[in-house]
Amino acid sequence: MRDHDLRPSPISATVDFSANGVQHGFLRLPYSRDDSAWGSVMIPLTVVKNGEGPTALLTGGNHGDEYEGPIALFDLARRLKAEDVSGRVIIVPAMNYPAFLAGTRTSPIDRGNMNRSFPGAPDGTVTPKIADYFQRTLLPLADIVLDFHSGGKTLDFLPFCAAHILPDKTQEAKAFDLVKAFGAPWSMKMLEIDAVGMYDTAAEEMGKIFITTELGGGGTATAKSAGIAKAGVANVLKAAGILKGAVEAARTTWLDMPDGNCFSFAEDGGLIEPLFDLGDQVRNGDVMARIYPVARTGAEALEIRAKMDGVLAARHFPGLVKPGDCVGVLAAVVTA
Ligand SMILES: [Zn+2]
Repeated sequence: MRDHDLRPSPISATVDFSANGVQHGFLRLPYSRDDSAWGSVMIPLTVVKNGEGPTALLTGGNHGDEYEGPIALFDLARRLKAEDVSGRVIIVPAMNYPAFLAGTRTSPIDRGNMNRSFPGAPDGTVTPKIADYFQRTLLPLADIVLDFHSGGKTLDFLPFCAAHILPDKTQEAKAFDLVKAFGAPWSMKMLEIDAVGMYDTAAEEMGKIFITTELGGGGTATAKSAGIAKAGVANVLKAAGILKGAVEAARTTWLDMPDGNCFSFAEDGGLIEPLFDLGDQVRNGDVMARIYPVARTGAEALEIRAKMDGVLAARHFPGLVKPGDCVGVLAAVVTA
């Protein structure tokens, strides 16, 4: 058993996860550094518990430059009352808090990408220490897990809630029921480029009902995308029986990422001209974007061609691309 081989986490919670009521506190992670010899990283969290019932673990800021999750969760944390809840809600609006404060995808302390750091390590640097605490303390408390993402500074997405195709079909069906309840304009059967080290995978391998989102991007939020996040989390808590009231069923279009052909990557750097916008229908072979070499004039542009029919679900956000950047993601519309 891995757990018995590891030392205890250095993180301590200032809240009691088993106590009834509303508690606003911190995960305190000792972090000795030049400007604070015995200092700590203080990750804000809220626990709301009322009697017996399921536990929802709600997280944003897994990547520090994605804002819909933190907006929805800081908002929920200040409003949720114990009497509203049956069971328990654990809210961590900014999981990789150092990255969130810096406005960067990864941590400025150790460059750690939270979503590639699982299962983490109690004796690692700051990011794997946070991952380890989620792996060994918070995830085991949870029945359902909602982890908010958006595109960050370098990608922009159609607003969707998503779950993964899983070997356990009962677990998979429960996750897609929650995706439907979330009620984003789009709902995705999501394929990962590389699932190793992901929080998603850690939760799913523990048998948790895990859903995630991509709700926009570009390193900001909009009124619309923040509204989708706030309505979505309320709907998920209602569907789980933790909040009272009916799920406000919104119309959603289901999308599928059938295989690796959905991803397009740049092989050269340069200036990107998008030829389709998010939500546009693209046909196999269509030129989705051009990349102009910028060292000189007169050079031919590189064409990025679609490898399947689908809806443009994600695109590179900045105007310049580098070799290896993901420039577009297509998804197939699921009918019936
Ligand atoms: Zn993310």
